[in-house]
Amino acid sequence: KLSKRLQTIASFISSNSLFADIGSDHAYLPCYVCLSDQTVQAIAGEVKEGPLKRAQETVEYYDLSERIDVRLGNGLQIINENDHVNEVVIAGMGGSLIANIMEEGKNKLSAVHKIIAQPNIHASSVRKTFLANNYSLINEIILMENNHIYEVLVAERDSTVNIYDPAEHLGKQLMFGPLLMQEKSPVFIKKWQDERKKLLHITSNMEKAKNKEETKLHLYKKQLQWMEEVLT
Ligand code: SAM
Repeated sequence: KLSKRLQTIASFISSNSLFADIGSDHAYLPCYVCLSDQTVQAIAGEVKEGPLKRAQETVEYYDLSERIDVRLGNGLQIINENDHVNEVVIAGMGGSLIANIMEEGKNKLSAVHKIIAQPNIHASSVRKTFLANNYSLINEIILMENNHIYEVLVAERDSTVNIYDPAEHLGKQLMFGPLLMQEKSPVFIKKWQDERKKLLHITSNMEKAKNKEETKLHLYKKQLQWMEEVLT
């Protein structure tokens, strides 16, 4: 059975799409989507040989080789112009790595109207990169599974939707997610209570240090203030 995390991601893949799953590992996601929707095709990309082999095995096991192409390569470089990939998934990595993959592969995104990202940490880097590349955040989901908290971010290109509130600090909205901070679900509250505890611990140690990193400390204090605001 597919994890709740991957099922959530799968729910955003459109019918009739050709999507690329970057860093696919076992290729569970493309196999699940292609088995449940006959109109979808996929490319599973992997940068490492081991995971690539696992992806090939899963695709063969489900007899999906006609509809899922497994490719070895770095990030979005596995996409060719004549593939006409229109949706991209980058999941299960840090937000900075996801942001790097998008930045480095910008030229591969010309036909891609939707990106679904699931950063394990630093979702703000992903939101920032969407914003810088004309992808509008249209949906955000936060969920808990096996005691881990995950965020799934969905963005569409050239949409006129702007969900960032001009009256609210942009840095704050990038950190918490403009939709998630409005919704304030129990999982969201749990996540930021935990993050606040961690950051309080870090800043109190920094206060005690002989050589204070003032710039960093200042930023962390700002973030702590934001956390208190969203948690009340
Ligand atoms: N996407 C799957 C998921 O969410 O369950 C697998 C996540 S797994 C933790 C991350 C995978 O990304 C690893 O298999 C790793 O080899 C791959 N990866 C890391 N950097 C990559 C890159 N630059 N290009 C392609 N794959 C990459």
